[in-house]
Amino acid sequence: DISLSPRVNSVKPSKTVAISDLATALVQSGVPVIRLAAGEPDFDTPAAIAEAGINAIREGYTRYTQNAGTLELREAICHKLKEENDLTYTPDQIVVSNGAKQSLIQAVLAVCSPGDEVIVPAPFWVSYPEMARLADATPVILPTRLSDDFLLDPKLLESTITERTRLLILCSPSNPTGSVYPKKLLEEIAHIVAKHPRLLVVSDEIYEHIIYAPATHTSFASLPGMWDRTLTVNGFSKAFAMTGWRLGYIAGPKHFITACGKLQSQFTSGASSISQKAGVAALGLGKGGGEAVSTMVKAFRERRDFLVKSFREIDGVKISEPQGAFYLFIDFSSFYGREVEGFGKIEDSESLCRYLLDKGQVAVVPGSAFGDDSCIRISYAASLTTLQAAVERIKKALVPLT
Ligand code: PLP
Repeated sequence: DISLSPRVNSVKPSKTVAISDLATALVQSGVPVIRLAAGEPDFDTPAAIAEAGINAIREGYTRYTQNAGTLELREAICHKLKEENDLTYTPDQIVVSNGAKQSLIQAVLAVCSPGDEVIVPAPFWVSYPEMARLADATPVILPTRLSDDFLLDPKLLESTITERTRLLILCSPSNPTGSVYPKKLLEEIAHIVAKHPRLLVVSDEIYEHIIYAPATHTSFASLPGMWDRTLTVNGFSKAFAMTGWRLGYIAGPKHFITACGKLQSQFTSGASSISQKAGVAALGLGKGGGEAVSTMVKAFRERRDFLVKSFREIDGVKISEPQGAFYLFIDFSSFYGREVEGFGKIEDSESLCRYLLDKGQVAVVPGSAFGDDSCIRISYAASLTTLQAAVERIKKALVPLT
């Protein structure tokens, strides 16, 4: 009997992972594909952080840690949240996990009952709706518009909330759009949340340091009345170029955090002891990640500026300039419906991405994966030279479509 559980059957595999894997396989077979599909910084982990990990191994710091994470790291996280986010937590209100992804799924599983609704503004990070499904909850997708910088319309939010609404998942700066929620808009959202006592907010702040001035980051839990109602998720992968270390965390009221820890104690136990030592070093780099992080953010900004300018030169393309993260979410829908000899019809974001991979040898992700088929996502976690080559290839591939 090869049948699988209904739980697994209800979940879609991650399209971003699938495209990254396909692009990697092509590169390995000798096709010179430029990969702009993955959501990970192209930088090495800053040396001081890596050294802390190496020292942990040398010193035999290689055993299980406490399930919720070492006290040393949780204290460092509390300090960070106080200094940078104006949030007061104690170590028993923090659970450290193997990446923010684990923090998120545990939070969704901990608070949702079957039939609950989880509001996810689209374009969304691919995993949010699937996490809701894994919890037997129903994802409720709220569309946003490029002309509104992909920010949630509070009126639409208000009209969508029902008695079954348990969670609203916010992600700012956003993957895939790079949008940053202004404080004023968050305050409007908080005002609505306050009226619905059963509604909790998961605030995914993993890109907080990758933000381009004058945009600034506001932690949702820091807004009046929202501390009790918010589970704040953050991690080390993006800001500190630590994707492979697998380290993230959640902070919130003890009642919920204890529940997240209970799940973790049966799933995986504590995160890697080595990574946790490295995490302490990362938080020791200073406010905003210090110079190591600001150097990376400067490079991301240069790339963003280059790409926005380059794509704005292409007729029929629409862009909202991202204020954070390292993605561009570009509307290419004016190219849909065109026929190309030797390929067929470009029907949607998926066929456009297949076309760009086949003819342009550039791997990008279809917007359909993020709940918006008019766009494609380009990750600019690649050198400026690589991005210049990618733009040339994309422009050339688009010629037969114009
Ligand atoms: N949240 C968002 C919005 C992301 O883009 C990612 C990674 O792609 C994660 C969470 C998970 O990060 P990690 O599990 O590496 O900490």
